[in-house]
Amino acid sequence: MNFFQDRISIFKKRDLLFLESYKESEEVYTFLFQKEKDLTWKAGQYGLFTITNKKIKNSTKPFTIASTPKENEVRLTMRIGDNPSDFKKEMLELKQGMKVRMSGPVGNFYLKDNSPTLLVAGGIGITPFRAILKQIEAEGNEVGKQVQLLYMDSKMSFIFKDELDRIANNSSISVSYLNSRNDLYQEMDHFINLNKNNGRYFIAGSKSMVDSISTHMQNQNVSKKEIKKDAFFGY
Ligand SMILES: Cc1cc2nc3c(=O)[nH]c(=O)nc-3n(C[C@H](O)[C@H](O)[C@H](O)COP(=O)(O)OP(=O)(O)OC[C@H]3O[C@@H](n4cnc5c(N)ncnc54)[C@H](O)[C@@H]3O)c2cc1C
Repeated sequence: MNFFQDRISIFKKRDLLFLESYKESEEVYTFLFQKEKDLTWKAGQYGLFTITNKKIKNSTKPFTIASTPKENEVRLTMRIGDNPSDFKKEMLELKQGMKVRMSGPVGNFYLKDNSPTLLVAGGIGITPFRAILKQIEAEGNEVGKQVQLLYMDSKMSFIFKDELDRIANNSSISVSYLNSRNDLYQEMDHFINLNKNNGRYFIAGSKSMVDSISTHMQNQNVSKKEIKKDAFFGY
């Protein structure tokens, strides 16, 4: 999806019907919405979501669609702490039958070829990678696709772990759960040494984490154009 397609896509607005929500872990919640037949996206893309049932400040925010179109639902998974913003308060207040507006999908955070690929997630930055791994699983071409996911969470609260493990067990995808920066950098450097600029690199998480990992990769001579970033501001 290029810049112009994104611009067209961003004007496509639709109201999504809320189905249910549940807690994934201490500070993480998933919200499921009905997927309309004509809605589609590439695994890893995001939408702009707007609270419409109440007037609030900052009523529109970007969130990754953490599901694939094949799952037939739009899944948003977000971190909600003790002191939620008005937007997140309203998300927690959603009841069956209520609606949230979506614009998009947008973004170029999705796999484009079969090159060896390193996915690096920091905490809630796992959301696009859940979609990407589910997509590989759904396409049934997981054998031979060389994909390595490094999932770092200092609190070791690894959401989606069961699903990710199941996909990894049935494919050539490898998933490592890490809680220290040292281990993360060691694993990254191993991949970089093996694949250099034949590899594709995807990083998602807080802006500071994404920036520091991207800088590290570039210091290891990975070309900037091979690094795709989803920086979640606000964390
Ligand atoms: C491409 C992209 C994809 C993203 N995907 C995801 C995703 O999948 N999951 C996800 O969780 N995030 C995602 N984000 C980040 C998301 O868009 C928000 O920026 C993030 O969730 C912070 O929003 P917020 O409403 O908590 O905080 P903000 O409004 O940015 O506020 C930050 C903090 O300030 C405090 N605060 C703000 N308003 C109030 C208030 N009224 N009362 C009390 N305290 C307040 C809260 O502690 C809050 O956590 C993504 C961002 C981008 C750019």
